[in-house]
Parts: sequence; structure tokens; C-alpha cells
Amino acid sequence: MLRTVLQLVKFRAVLLALVALSMTSAVVFAEDSGAPDVTTDSQHWTAYGYTITAPDSMWPMLELLHRQHFDWELASASRRPTPLVWASLPPGVYGQYSQTLNVVKVSGVLQNSSVEIGSAFLAHELTHLTDDLNGKLGDMVGNVCYEAEVRAFVNEANFWQMVVGPNGKTTQDPIEIQENAKMFAFVGNTRFADLVVRTTGSYIKQCGQDRVPG
Ligand SMILES: [Zn+2]
Repeated sequence: MLRTVLQLVKFRAVLLALVALSMTSAVVFAEDSGAPDVTTDSQHWTAYGYTITAPDSMWPMLELLHRQHFDWELASASRRPTPLVWASLPPGVYGQYSQTLNVVKVSGVLQNSSVEIGSAFLAHELTHLTDDLNGKLGDMVGNVCYEAEVRAFVNEANFWQMVVGPNGKTTQDPIEIQENAKMFAFVGNTRFADLVVRTTGSYIKQCGQDRVPG
């Protein structure tokens, strides 16, 4: 029994380390560099009553979100409206919602990846957008910030499981392997997601009370 518990703790510790390394998404309230690297595409995806500004290379991702009943996220992007763009993001960062620029960025790196993995990061970022529209982000400091990230990661993990199934995706792609790990860690495990977010450097920096507003 004790041994089982210890094994579980050890497993969790390994998982925590693995997952912490792959926490790769952010809400940005102010850009630190002046000119945004965003070229807003003039292409529009119009379907199911939504119109979303996004390059046509992203449309399969939007279709997949619809198929998995994430229409509430499509509704958010359509409602404000908020453009979706491929962007150059720092290494290891795959998505970003910028409140000030009103844009959801998805790393251009994912243009060579599967539709599913790009959609998973989109599911995360559109959770932030939806929270913002619902007035849930506040000043994005402390608990409000950590809780927003937990919601986003749990949605991302649930989405991934709905797409690839509960055993994860059989894949050699390192980003998808990380996504499998997030799925195993977070689905049905909000408290564990909360622990990971609160102990991951990039989120401590993003959510910290001493964050310097930029
Ligand atoms: Zn996030």
C-alpha cells in the first residue's frame, strides 16, 4: 500500500516535471516590444453562424473545434471579433492571447504539425478570450491569473482527449508527446493542474503579484 502510494507520488513528480517543461502558452496583457509581429489576414472563415478572421490554413482547426463541440470558443472569436494568426513566438511557446492587441497567435512552428495539435493550443487560447469577454480575467494577477490558466489547460487537455482518445496519440512528434502528458496529468485533475501552474516558472512570472505592468 505504502509502496503503491510512493510509486504514485514518484509518478506524479515525474509527470509534474515533464508537464512543467511543456507549459507553453501565455496571456499577454502588454507587449514588451513595440511593433507587433502580426499581419492580420483578411481571410474569413464563415460557417455555423460564425465569422472568424483567420488564414485558410487554420480553417481545418476551426472545423475540428466545431466537431468537438467547442462552438462556444468559435462564438467568442466571432463575437468581438478577434483575429487568429500564425505568429513567430519564443521557442517552446505555441500560443498566445494578447488582450491589448486583440489577437490570438498560434506559433508558426505548428503549421508543419497536425491539425489536432494546433487546435489543442487554439482551444487553450480561446478559453482566455472567452474568459476575457466574460469579465473573468480582471487584472490577471494572482489567483485570477492562475485559475484562468488552469481552466485553459484543462480545456486543452479535455479537447486533446476527445480528439485522440484516452490512451493518447501514438506519435513521434515531441509536441504531441508533451500534449499526451498534459492529457494524462490534467483530465479530471483540476487540482493537479492548479499545482503545476503555480509551480511553473513562466506562470509564476506571468501571474506574480510583483509583475511589473508593461
Ligand atoms: Zn494560457
